[in-house]
Amino acid sequence: MTTVTLINGDGIGPEVAAAARRVVDELGADISWDVHEAGVPAIETHGNPLPPHVLGSIKDNEVALKGPVTTPVGTGFRSINVALRQELDLFASVRPCRLYEGVPSRYDEVDIIVVRENTEDLYEGIEFEMGSPELDKLRGYLKYMHGFAIARDAGVSVKPISISATRDIVNFAFELATKHRRSKVTLGHKANIMKFSDGVWLETGQKISTDYPEIDFDEMQVDEMAMGLAWIPKDLDVIVLPNLYGDIISDLCAGLVGGLGVAPGMNLGKDYAVFEPTHGSAPDIAGRGIANPLAMMLSATLMLRHLDLEREADRLEAAIAHVLKERRVVPADLRPPGDPSTTAAITDAIIDALHTGT
Ligand code: NAD
Repeated sequence: MTTVTLINGDGIGPEVAAAARRVVDELGADISWDVHEAGVPAIETHGNPLPPHVLGSIKDNEVALKGPVTTPVGTGFRSINVALRQELDLFASVRPCRLYEGVPSRYDEVDIIVVRENTEDLYEGIEFEMGSPELDKLRGYLKYMHGFAIARDAGVSVKPISISATRDIVNFAFELATKHRRSKVTLGHKANIMKFSDGVWLETGQKISTDYPEIDFDEMQVDEMAMGLAWIPKDLDVIVLPNLYGDIISDLCAGLVGGLGVAPGMNLGKDYAVFEPTHGSAPDIAGRGIANPLAMMLSATLMLRHLDLEREADRLEAAIAHVLKERRVVPADLRPPGDPSTTAAITDAIIDALHTGT
């Protein structure tokens, strides 16, 4: 029996988490749930959106399925997602973007895995506020040592990219490509402009690619990649990107395959894995029973594969694909012809499909 930490989240989180739990239980997978609250309910009961026992549960179980949580604005609480990433050293964010039949899209075929480095780059938080004494010092130093003139009315964010973090994420992308029998890894960069940060990224990626001769390797400037994705997305397979480009490109790819409601995700480190949908807590529709549970269910299929429960993952993904193709029930965000189907009706349809084996 495998125990998984289940974090319900808030907003639509508990609705989609309950739906995903129902379908996984219906599969008869040998999984027990260690259920915890995070986000707004945890602030109310524990005064902390990510209480230490929740983190402890993930550390014990090594795997979590997580509903979305609201990032409280102006309360002094930091984002739970950032905290989880840092505390568990989840250095890789992975978004498989696959177009299922029946989902409205401009394209016929999309099947891309976006791998994003999660720890450094402009997201490392090394920032200097405009007009601050620290930035004044930095400006003075850069002018004196290198002749760089930073405008007085500028703010500054620093972009570190290391060989070690690049090595980890590019190796990870190649291992993922190998495991999922993918044929090509494309590394996105802007090394022509940022020679000393993206330059490290490109050079390290190129070196690592030689360890995987059975997988094609390609490098591409990230602007060219964005154009390629909009033009002929089926030409791309596994994409590996530094943090900021990865953030932007993974949302672009979610848009290619029908949007947030069908975009699953996972954050992985060397020891722990957290599976969660790409979408947020959708406060505008919370409590109305119309949240689309499919991204959360697709995240559960990724979790099942991570746990080597391939047969269960295949069954669940096939049931989701069948329901999307049939369009007998259509979630709110996938442009239903009439009223959107409820979360419960979609979940029932998935369970029917699981039992009829379609
Ligand atoms: P959001 O993804 O919650 O919502 C954007 C739009 O998409 C809304 O109109 C919403 O109704 C719709 N939507 C999202 N998921 C849906 C679903 N499953 N079914 C149907 N419609 C869906 O983004 P937001 O409004 O920018 O963020 C709301 C909160 O969620 C914020 O506090 C944000 O910080 C947080 N957030 C959390 C996570 C996470 O926990 N991983 C991710 C993103 C945003």
